[in-house]
Amino acid sequence: MMMLELNGLHAGLRFSSAHIVFGHPSCGVIHGHSYYVDVRIFGERCGEFNFVCDFKTIKTVVKEICEKLDHKLILPKNHEKVYYELKDKTLYFKYKYKEYTIPVEDVILLPIPSTTAEDLAKYFTNEISKKLKNLGFSNIIWIEVSINEGIGQGACYRKYLKEYTEER
Ligand SMILES: [Zn+2]
Repeated sequence: MMMLELNGLHAGLRFSSAHIVFGHPSCGVIHGHSYYVDVRIFGERCGEFNFVCDFKTIKTVVKEICEKLDHKLILPKNHEKVYYELKDKTLYFKYKYKEYTIPVEDVILLPIPSTTAEDLAKYFTNEISKKLKNLGFSNIIWIEVSINEGIGQGACYRKYLKEYTEER
């Protein structure tokens, strides 16, 4: 078993986006971050090169997700208290007394309950897992993703792709 580690800051796994943490006293307004995505993958080495996973493959997969979010306003489709309505090419949304309209092309709506670093970490972990599974990887035990809101603060989520008991 071995763990691969990609540092988002140095490996270029980044995106710059705006978000709103609805209801939060200071983060409840539209603001942005330069996000860095750290990825750790734990699994068995295999194949011709005895890799857990080729770094190039992981980077491609993570960059695809970053590109979808980059330079957009990220909105949580599954937020319980945000009302959305698509009016032609404009998205209208409302949280309590706050109403917004924005061109739909400037927005990415994600199927998550909020756009905190915590929920984004979970979203990235699930998406990366799906993509690696689709690419045929079956040697991976867990994937861990940290979403850093700038340098020095982030949320980390780990997803097990299969059961694992520590070797003794
Ligand atoms: Zn924020």
